[in-house]
Amino acid sequence: MSGRRQERNREPDNRRREEGPADAPLNPEARLERMSALQLIDLVSGQMRGAEAAPHRPLRHLRYRVQELEEIREQAQGALAELNEAVEKLRAPALRLGTLLRRIGRDRALICVGGGEYVCNLDPSLPEAVLESGMRVLLNEAYAVTDSFGLDKSGPVVRLTEALSDGRLRVGQEAGISDSVVILSDALRKETLKPGMELRLDANQRVAVEIVAPARKFDRSLSTVEPILWSDIGGQDSAVQAIRDSIEMPILHASLFERFEHPVPKGFLLYGPPGCGKTLLGKATAHNLRRQIEAETGEDRPEYFLSVKGPEILNMWVGESERQVRELFGQCREKAEEGHLAFLFIDEAESVLGTRHGGRVGNAIISTLVPMFCAEMDGMEALRNVVVILASNRADLIDPAILRPGRIDRKIRVRRPNREAGREIYSIYLNERLPVAEERDRLIEAVTEAHFAESEENRFLEVGYRSGRKEYLHRGDLASGAIIAAIVERAKELAIKRSVLTGSESGITREDLLTAFEHEYRENELFPPTDITEDWLKLTDFDPENVVRLTPYRQRSDRERQTSI
Ligand code: ADP
Repeated sequence: MSGRRQERNREPDNRRREEGPADAPLNPEARLERMSALQLIDLVSGQMRGAEAAPHRPLRHLRYRVQELEEIREQAQGALAELNEAVEKLRAPALRLGTLLRRIGRDRALICVGGGEYVCNLDPSLPEAVLESGMRVLLNEAYAVTDSFGLDKSGPVVRLTEALSDGRLRVGQEAGISDSVVILSDALRKETLKPGMELRLDANQRVAVEIVAPARKFDRSLSTVEPILWSDIGGQDSAVQAIRDSIEMPILHASLFERFEHPVPKGFLLYGPPGCGKTLLGKATAHNLRRQIEAETGEDRPEYFLSVKGPEILNMWVGESERQVRELFGQCREKAEEGHLAFLFIDEAESVLGTRHGGRVGNAIISTLVPMFCAEMDGMEALRNVVVILASNRADLIDPAILRPGRIDRKIRVRRPNREAGREIYSIYLNERLPVAEERDRLIEAVTEAHFAESEENRFLEVGYRSGRKEYLHRGDLASGAIIAAIVERAKELAIKRSVLTGSESGITREDLLTAFEHEYRENELFPPTDITEDWLKLTDFDPENVVRLTPYRQRSDRERQTSI
């Protein structure tokens, strides 16, 4: 009896804890059932005390192993619990975000979520400052507000049309998208708002949340252009005359035009191949008009030349391109009112003012741009405000609506230079001031001859006509003012290099010019690398209807040479 009591006393403490309260004694079976494997081993080993020592050693090993297993099991259970928790989190539905429209009493608020409105309870622990109208709030599954993320960073930008007397705002977007009425965020309530300002709405488009700075204005404008005299432009006499007739005459002799009730154009279109002086002519118009007006009237009206490339106006956002066009006209009108001679020069005009189905970008953009541009033109008083100059090498693509009388009804062709014009342009760039190695006129003659000769070396394009007839094009046939200017610049570089090497000034030689000419055509990839007819047609004056094939001449002869080997 006393021996059994002793055994019980030696049982581990934790086992006694397992037995439960003393007032609810368990029967021996249930007690064993509740014990862990380790406790059972301890129990057995306790009962074996005093018996033979031999079974004790394996029992100790058994206990050690079981202890190890128990520890592993506990760790695995911990990891499993963590995993379950993570899976639960991932399975839980996403919480919604909404815009707080206004507070309702102390503990509720009107929230807009995806167009719907909800009266939601507020977590009382949230500070007042994060629960202002316009803020983005987090809703839990019961649609209670549990957190706030402050003012949202993105949302549509609109223009303020009118601040209504009750504090709401009437706002609108460009391009005829209808106006809507929104409320003010608490943050904006402190600001002074004026019609025309640009405001950003929250993502639900119900609250005006901030004033945004006006979008970037066109910064490509040149307030003044370089002084380009008409004589700086070679081989474009008829284009120059046409410009002077349509712009200078009406401005300088306005009363005569009125007397004869002769309509005055609002601008003109310069069309022709690239690099032949369209931009140059535009700038020269601005400069010379200023000089002419000054000479005739003594009044100096500084020019304001806003130059933009058509593709720069195109924008993927609905209404943004229209806004840009309006902005361009607005900027020019503003300057004209300040007394400037304002010019709006749009290069590559066909990309924005193309026929409604001929544009490169989605038709939707173009089809709204053309009427928009026409409306701006119609609202302008002829030549009083702004002279619009369009430049394009695909005039055939420009929407006829733009070219109607009263808008841009003067179409002025800018031609590629022929031999005569080429000589003129060479003499502009090889001017009297430059150091030359032989008589200037002979130099000019030599390089013009090399450029425009219809020789085998100059042959580079084969044209196949629908009729079956073939023709060769020579380098001179695709000459341009830009190419000639580049050739002369190259020749100058050669002369400078030689002067540096020899240590004494060496004028431009005939060889410099011929080498420069050869290099300019060979290296500079002036022409399309492929024989895609469409690419070539853009460069030439051929009627696309009649031409079926354009093949680079050298490529073809190389191939022929290869096959004949
Ligand atoms: P486009 O607008 O027709 O593509 P540019 O007027 O921009 O061509 O011409 C590019 C450059 O080539 C000019 O800045 C000028 O240096 C030169 N150039 C082109 N045409 C002429 C010309 N007829 N006379 C003198 N220089 C010219």
